[in-house]
Amino acid sequence: MLAMDYRGPKRVRLDRNKPMPEILHPQDAIVRVTRSCICGSDLHLYNGNVPDTRVGETFGHEFIGIVEEIGADVHKLKVGDQVIVPFNIACGECTFCKQELYGNCHEANPQATAVGGIFGYSHIAGGYNGGQAEYVRVPYANVGPTVLPDWMHPDDAVLLTDVVPTGYQAAEMGGIQKGDTVAIFGAGPIGIMAAKCAWLFGAGRVIVFDQEEYRLDFVRKYAQCEAYNFKSIEDPVVFIKKTTESLGADVCIDAVGAEAAGSALQTFTGRKTLMQAGSATALQWAINSAKKGGVVSVVGVYGPTGNLIPIGNALNKGLTIRGNQASVKRLLPRLIDHIQNGTLDPKALITHHIPLEEVSDAYRIFANKLDNCIKPVLIP
Ligand code: NAD
Ligand code: ZN
Repeated sequence: MLAMDYRGPKRVRLDRNKPMPEILHPQDAIVRVTRSCICGSDLHLYNGNVPDTRVGETFGHEFIGIVEEIGADVHKLKVGDQVIVPFNIACGECTFCKQELYGNCHEANPQATAVGGIFGYSHIAGGYNGGQAEYVRVPYANVGPTVLPDWMHPDDAVLLTDVVPTGYQAAEMGGIQKGDTVAIFGAGPIGIMAAKCAWLFGAGRVIVFDQEEYRLDFVRKYAQCEAYNFKSIEDPVVFIKKTTESLGADVCIDAVGAEAAGSALQTFTGRKTLMQAGSATALQWAINSAKKGGVVSVVGVYGPTGNLIPIGNALNKGLTIRGNQASVKRLLPRLIDHIQNGTLDPKALITHHIPLEEVSDAYRIFANKLDNCIKPVLIP
């Protein structure tokens, strides 16, 4: 079959002869992929910043498709069903799944102490093959996959696998109270969705920072919020203080993750990879611009350690810092309702439909923010 194939940092290609996935366990399903996005999280892999990303791996954790085959113990799905597959692989029964922490499932990734299983996300997330391919094996098929409602547009459905729940959970973890000022770092798909969702929780003001003018334009219109280029203001921390009577934002959301560390990290550490060094400018800005007693919600993905975060400032301000991989299954029912009643319109974020055959171009466009790309979806 055709599949995306990782060759090393910034090198991906199309593999025309990847072996077809097989049922390995009675609860597996094989899904024929119909849409598969590239995510900002894939860029951490693509840039070579995630430890134990192996040459020959297929990425892709945001996909929908049609059930092609089911294992003997799969009873919630049948062949031919169209399914939304959450990016978290979750057993549904371990102590974490029982708390609806589906992003932290123990069974799906027993070697790890932090993250659970994720499709196509290196061996730190369980070593599963991803969905940037014609077919993919879906473990625990009674748990994650949800049949697509017949009224739903497939572009909305594919964004329910990650972007919508992650943006929503970013806002939810912020504990936004009515009238709160919410500052969001990053206007990629996740920051944009977080801005949109912040209003659903009662925000009084939403301010987004990025450096890509076209993304700032997009979020301003799409989420009806303020948006600023952090390169053209003196410093987001000073900026936020000035516009909040020196108090800071009630809630700050980091929707950037490791790459923002770039120059800052080199200055501080001269170390090898961002994921090893951890921390980043966006997170520092989030902590330093939060109001005393405020909340910092981190959905940007980092390496296991974070030794450069201004923990002293966080402590002295009495901040609450929350973060996690989104718990997709927990949020799906309410997000499907939001799409049905029109309060969320995720498909507007998809700017590019690209054949799977052109996967290396798709990565180049998304990684380099070319052609006003917000979110690309691969079509096998
Ligand atoms: P993206 O790469 O498309 O967007 C990131 C944006 O951040 C870019 O527009 C970039 O210009 C901007 N940026 C860079 N440095 C910045 C800074 N210092 N301040 C403000 N903006 C800055 O990525 P995305 O798909 O939107 O994902 C964003 C982050 O969310 C990534 O780290 C990704 O791994 C993570 N993520 C987490 C989860 C989760 O479950 N927690 C799920 C999906 C994605
Ligand atoms: Zn993703």
